[in-house]
Amino acid sequence: MIQVQHLTKIYPNGTRGLDDVNVDIQDGEFVCVIGLSGAGKSTFLRCINRLNDATSGQILIDGEDIAFAQGAKLRSLRRRIGFIFQQFNLTTRLTALENVLAGRLGYHNRFAGALGLYPESDIQLAKDALTRVGLADRMTVRVDQLSGGQQQRVAIARAVAQQPTLILADEPMASLDPKLSNVIMGLLKSFNQDGISVLVNIHVLELATAYADRILGFNQGRLVFDGPPSALTPDV
Ligand code: ADP
Ligand code: ADP
Repeated sequence: MIQVQHLTKIYPNGTRGLDDVNVDIQDGEFVCVIGLSGAGKSTFLRCINRLNDATSGQILIDGEDIAFAQGAKLRSLRRRIGFIFQQFNLTTRLTALENVLAGRLGYHNRFAGALGLYPESDIQLAKDALTRVGLADRMTVRVDQLSGGQQQRVAIARAVAQQPTLILADEPMASLDPKLSNVIMGLLKSFNQDGISVLVNIHVLELATAYADRILGFNQGRLVFDGPPSALTPDV
């Protein structure tokens, strides 16, 4: 479970990216985060994973605070969170399989595969994840030879192979053909059904209401809506 308490992020230029946000995410929830551009969605996700540092507040992951954790403690908490970026953030000169393995081991060595440095159990985990996202026949292809949709599926496999309790996805469809939105959301939903909590930033409201158990709405850094899709009214 994730408990966010009084989370505030003030950027060095004085912008309030987040303003006293309080929310608990239960295990296994599928949550979509909505709001206009600049509302704080990305800052919210990035603070949870410590890609951004919060200014104040707490982010408890199964009771342990990641907001100001350091060193080994921070690394161990971050391993429980898979992050999916709008721009995939893959290493394009590596194969799909190597990207997933690099994520799993946090190990960016392009000779590791050739040198057999990956434990067989990790290779199997990575292959299983790539198979789940429909890329069984593309595992040894360099990522720069894959389509955008395939690259995002590699990124999802990389997140899942880490065996996280939580997946954060920051506008994962924004760089893709809208036709692929249901593929990406469907994959996130299928991993959610295995028990992984999912938090997705999304700007297409119809997708949020179609997939989410719960919607968080942000405006100017504040949480202004927290409820099921059925409770959304047209003026939210
Ligand atoms: P969203 O993801 O909803 O579009 P963001 O979290 O990116 O919103 O941004 C929230 C607010 O914080 C916006 O006003 C944005 O301009 C500001 N912001 C985001 N990143 C930075 C930064 N690195 N420095 C200063 N302000 C930032
Ligand atoms: P997105 O929110 O879709 O990722 P943005 O254009 O808002 O794209 O942000 C791109 C990058 O610039 C992000 O790393 C964000 O943190 C940063 N950023 C956003 N707004 C500001 C800002 N007002 N000042 C400085 N950096 C910003």
